[in-house]
Amino acid sequence: MKNLLSATAIGLMLTSASFAGNISEADLAGDQASAGDVLTNGMGRHLQRYSPLDTLNKDNVKNLVPAWAFSLGGEKQRGQETQPIVHDGVMYITGSYSRMYAIDLKSGEELWQYDARLPEGILPCCDVINRGAAIYNDKVYFGTLDARIVALDAKTGDVVWRKKIDDYKAGYSYTAAPLIVDGLVVTGNSGGEFGIVGAVEARDAETGELVWKRPVIEGHMGEYKGEPSTMTGTLNATWPGDMWKTGGGATWLGGSYDARTDTLIFGAGNPAPWNSHLRNAGTPVEGNAGDNLYAASRIGIDPANGEIKWHFQTTPREGWDYDGVNEVVAFDGPGGEQLLATADRNGYFYVLDAADGGFVGGYPFVKDITWSTGLDENGRPLFVEENRPGNPADAADGKKGEVIFASPSFLGGKNWMPMAFSQNTGMFYVPSNEWGMDIWNEPISYKKGAAYLGAGFTIKPNYEDHIGSLKAIDPMTGEWKWEYKNDAPLWSGVMTTAGGLVFFGTPEGKFLALDDATGEELWSFQTGSGIVGQPVTWEQDGEQYVSIISGWGGAVPLWGGEVAKKVNYLNQGGTLWTFRLPKQLASAN
Ligand code: CA
Ligand code: CA
Repeated sequence: MKNLLSATAIGLMLTSASFAGNISEADLAGDQASAGDVLTNGMGRHLQRYSPLDTLNKDNVKNLVPAWAFSLGGEKQRGQETQPIVHDGVMYITGSYSRMYAIDLKSGEELWQYDARLPEGILPCCDVINRGAAIYNDKVYFGTLDARIVALDAKTGDVVWRKKIDDYKAGYSYTAAPLIVDGLVVTGNSGGEFGIVGAVEARDAETGELVWKRPVIEGHMGEYKGEPSTMTGTLNATWPGDMWKTGGGATWLGGSYDARTDTLIFGAGNPAPWNSHLRNAGTPVEGNAGDNLYAASRIGIDPANGEIKWHFQTTPREGWDYDGVNEVVAFDGPGGEQLLATADRNGYFYVLDAADGGFVGGYPFVKDITWSTGLDENGRPLFVEENRPGNPADAADGKKGEVIFASPSFLGGKNWMPMAFSQNTGMFYVPSNEWGMDIWNEPISYKKGAAYLGAGFTIKPNYEDHIGSLKAIDPMTGEWKWEYKNDAPLWSGVMTTAGGLVFFGTPEGKFLALDDATGEELWSFQTGSGIVGQPVTWEQDGEQYVSIISGWGGAVPLWGGEVAKKVNYLNQGGTLWTFRLPKQLASAN
């Protein structure tokens, strides 16, 4: 109670005073253009991860040097996937085990640290990671592994409010960076492997009060200002019986915001359980009876009330854990067309119409897709029926369906690690992986807080010499302009700049800058642990800075099968590296 009172007092104090450092909706909207800060996940809510800065460029990137490094400390390591937020002389990062840090931008010294007190029995499926914070007005926000959202005083790190997203004992957790639009903190949820129900929620950024909630599985009722609003989809249109009640579709990667159409865009993960035969998805039927909407879909949502504007399902009848959560990037086509792009776990890169989510084009961005031969004119996959894991009910003992080899693996042609779009080249830089899996189905029934898969699997590399593959892709044709191959699977975000550079990291610890036109390696730095974080860049005192967090972990070591064994020599860590191009070296060759 004492904390609650002091938090309220701080809240009153800050809202009644005027601080030069306060961040407005206009600041968030202008984040890409404002080079002195990084206020949003994605370096702009369209998630382009493109900086207009060109101080650092192809000629001088070889002069980029470390400015400072910051250790997250403690005995808690594991995967570090955060994207830093930079504002008013301070960097905010989140760390594994639901920690957050404020760091002095000039000295690299810690200003404050917040540790969420996590209960026993949290159920994070895929490592104890966090992907970053949000900032608005005078507060910073982040989600915790026990499925809560916390608002902290940006100056002190004191808790202003703390709200429960859902019940961690049922398998809910939270790892994505929150998205802030029009004074609302918008979050998804995690837990698709536990039969939770995916949803998007919007809260008042000042108070944390829920404004609306939109479940993303058909049959569930939405909520608006404390009252039921509308049902998602049509009950039992695409789900059999009661399966929709524990239907998955976790919105675990958060979302983007397309200001051109005033639309939030969230992805929904795999339908639960993985065993698709239990969801009527195992046999082709008339219409879309086994499609299991809106799992494995991208969903356009009205930020004002949480109503669904449109959806595009990347993998109807999903049966390989091809979560449909991957980020949707809003971009303008070469003729000024308002478009969206997303690279799905299922191996296809999609371009959609920003107005209604309609299919514009789709192309493979990995080699060797086995489960589908292509996409039809509406973007619906053409299935290879014999490449669906077999029905256990067809087995003699009823316990294990036919084992098949499918590519890409369930960790995806691309997983969570965000791609970047360059306004300089018009290209997308897509971190992909070339791998497949043996997968089979088993019987399963739902039990609260227990894994709800009904499947077994082993991931395998598709090639001897590489799994990771960063590709430069023309979104209008699907053409691969170049490919950078890496031994270990790529798991880091990508950033590109007007200086013609593409930044990303590898599990082997290398932080690299490539030429955006050719893929040639122009600079690299060994960070000491695997990179699964997200780079940012900004300008400070006339110099350009770049930061990346290093700290190996994430889903690959936990779920990677044969690939996990291949990379088990990689050491854990937890260090934020910041690099700078000194003024005197900016024009040097
Ligand atoms: Ca900015
Ligand atoms: Ca999944």
